[in-house]
Amino acid sequence: MRETLNPHPMTEKHDETEHLAQNWQQQLSGAFTCIDDLCGYLRLSKDQLPLSTAASQSFALRVPLSFAASMEKGNPQDPLLRQVLPVADELHLYPGFSDDPVGDLSAVAEIGVLHKYQGRVLLINTGSCAINCRYCFRRNFPYAQIQLGKQKQQAALDYIAADHSITEVILSGGDPLLLNDAQLGGLIQQINPIGHVQRIRIHSRLPIVLPARITDELVAILASSGKTIIMVVHCNHANELSPRVTTALKLLKSHGITVFNQAVLLSGVNDDAKILCQLSEQLFKHGVIPYYLHLLDKVRGAGHFEVGLTEALRLMQEVQTALPGYLVPKLVKEQAGAAYKRYAHDLL
Ligand SMILES: *Cc1c(COP(=O)(O)O)cnc(C)c1O
Ligand code: SF4
Repeated sequence: MRETLNPHPMTEKHDETEHLAQNWQQQLSGAFTCIDDLCGYLRLSKDQLPLSTAASQSFALRVPLSFAASMEKGNPQDPLLRQVLPVADELHLYPGFSDDPVGDLSAVAEIGVLHKYQGRVLLINTGSCAINCRYCFRRNFPYAQIQLGKQKQQAALDYIAADHSITEVILSGGDPLLLNDAQLGGLIQQINPIGHVQRIRIHSRLPIVLPARITDELVAILASSGKTIIMVVHCNHANELSPRVTTALKLLKSHGITVFNQAVLLSGVNDDAKILCQLSEQLFKHGVIPYYLHLLDKVRGAGHFEVGLTEALRLMQEVQTALPGYLVPKLVKEQAGAAYKRYAHDLL
């Protein structure tokens, strides 16, 4: 039987406006988790899409309306939709794709600290995200188990305080901005007295997928820290930069926060020099500096997103030809056991 379009309450413009006027926590709990609702909202019928129930059972659909609102209605190939839609391709087994491709997730479990690179530690505060990106390396990992509880948080802070070579603390996850203001503010207050820590860096996709999280209160908390604050956002396509998002980015910038972007090179999303150039240009226009373009982590279920190394390097040549050097992100690959992110041209 043909699927009929499922009218969703939020197909009405005023309902959408109402939803987007809610606070971030309300928007978060109202995120799409049901394919029928998302299809109805996007005016797509399910038989236009290569959906898989098995894929969504192993890693649930999750997408905030503020991100879905930047998708093109009626376009089954939308590059933003592709990032979140559970599809049959995820069930294919590709050689070399595994459950823990970066190889160090288990190492972090002890105290919620990952100290792999000189001078920088990664603090895992929460295993949750506002959105489930299909290509994410955490899709098959029991990430919630390694988040920082109160006890672990103290152990992590003790670890950082004891090692004077640590100059930068990176709040990562999951998404550290899913902590509420009190939790995040408390954590920053505990890092503040550690004299050898100069910078606090926040890796978050929330400014892009749930920009309502960037409130005046949050920015005030960040700005009041004695440390230099850096925000690394995650945006893969210029279409993600809605006016809601660019307003949030502007708020961060206006409080002296340096904002970088990391993207993942994804087949069918941004594996095109023109799209990559647009992304860099639009980011910079809104005060964000392109930092990294990551080659895909080889996580099981994400093989169909892979762009081969040769093709990736070819794309980067085109980008380098077209853009000023400061708009060219570094094409990198996370490698188990390496002392830094490997530049793709060193992997040949
Ligand atoms: C990516 C990463 C960092 C930060 O690396 P930069 O090159 O400084 O951005 C730190 N620790 C770990 C484990 C990482 O994966
Ligand atoms: S926001 Fe980042 S950590 Fe969360 S699912 Fe997407 S890629 Fe993974």
